[in-house]
Amino acid sequence: MDIVFASHNAHKREEVKRIMDHILPTVMLSPPQGEPPVEDGATFADNALIKARAAVVDSSAIVVADDSGIVVEALGGQPGIHSARYSGTGDDRANLELLLRNLGDNDNRTAKFVCAAAVIIDGEEHVIERSWWGSIAREPYGEGGFGYDPIFIPAGFDVTSAQLSTTDKDLLSHRGQAFRQAALLLHRRLSPPDQQI
Ligand code: IMP
Repeated sequence: MDIVFASHNAHKREEVKRIMDHILPTVMLSPPQGEPPVEDGATFADNALIKARAAVVDSSAIVVADDSGIVVEALGGQPGIHSARYSGTGDDRANLELLLRNLGDNDNRTAKFVCAAAVIIDGEEHVIERSWWGSIAREPYGEGGFGYDPIFIPAGFDVTSAQLSTTDKDLLSHRGQAFRQAALLLHRRLSPPDQQI
C-alpha cells in the first residue's frame, strides 16, 4: 500500500515511517510530486492541511502531511510555524543559534515542540495535533535527530532530544504521538471490521 507523505524533508519522512511502521508495516511512504506549496496558514494545522491538499493527485490518493515546529514561551511563541526558516535560511545550526541568542540568559526556558499530522483519505480531511513539553538548553548537546533537537531538553530528562535513542524520541515526541494516532486512524479505515486494532 502506497501513501504519499507530503514533505520533502527526509528526516521527517524517516521518523514518520519508523513511527507508523509498528501499526502499518506494509505501507510505503512516497514523496509528493511537484513543487512544495506556499505555507501561508496561520497555524500548524492550517499548514499541514495546505501541504496535504497540494499532494492529492486523484480522489483515491491517501496523503499524510506533517507541519511542526518549536514554540518558546519567553519569545512569545516564536519561532512557531516559522521554525524551519527562523534565521532566514533553512540551516538547522543557524536557526538554533539565533534562538539561543534571542533567548539569551532568560531564566524562563519553557518550550514545546508541536506537530500537526494531516490525513486525507476518501476525500475526508483529519488533523491530529500533539505537543512535547520541555525547556531550552543553554548550549547545544548531542548529534542525533535534526533541527532544534540539540537544544531541546524534554520534561523529565537531563539530556537533549538529540541525545535520546530514536526509540525513545519516537515514544515521547510530538511527531510520535501525532503519527501513532494517524496510523491508527488509517488502520481503522483500511482494515476489515474484524481485524481492526
Ligand atoms: P516544517 O514543518 O517543514 O515547516 O518545519 C518544521 C521545522 O521545525 C523543522 O525544520 C525543524 O527546524 C523544527 N522541528 C520540527 N520537529 C522537530 C524535531 O522533532 N526535532 C527538531 N526540530 C524539529
